[in-house]
Amino acid sequence: MHELAITEGILRIVTAHAVKADADHVTDIHLVIGDMSSFINDSIQFYFDLLSPQTVAENATLHFHRLAVRFRCWQCRHEFAPTKLDRCCPQCNALGGEVIAGKEFYVESIEVN
Ligand SMILES: [Zn+2]
Repeated sequence: MHELAITEGILRIVTAHAVKADADHVTDIHLVIGDMSSFINDSIQFYFDLLSPQTVAENATLHFHRLAVRFRCWQCRHEFAPTKLDRCCPQCNALGGEVIAGKEFYVESIEVN
C-alpha cells in the first residue's frame, strides 16, 4: 500500500523538475529501485496510471531499473552479491553482511518535451 505514497512522491518530484525545465510534457521517467526494497513495479505503475492524468506526466512511460543486492562481509570486508539461497560470503563463508546496495529508490532522470 505504501506504493501510493511513493508514487505521489515521484509525481511531485517529476512535476517540480518539469516546471523548472519549462516543459509541457514529461515523456519518460527513469526510476532506480534496489532489489531489496519492497516496491513492486506493477503497483507503482498502477498508481501512476491512476494519478498522472491531467498532470505534466500524463502518458509518460515509466522505466524501472532494478539494482541487484550487494553485501559487504562483516568479517573479511569482501563485497559480494548474495542469492536467495546463499547469503554466505564466498571468500570466508561468514553468513550475511552489511547491505551496500539494493535498498535504493530514486528518480534517476526524466525526459521532457
Ligand atoms: Zn567474508
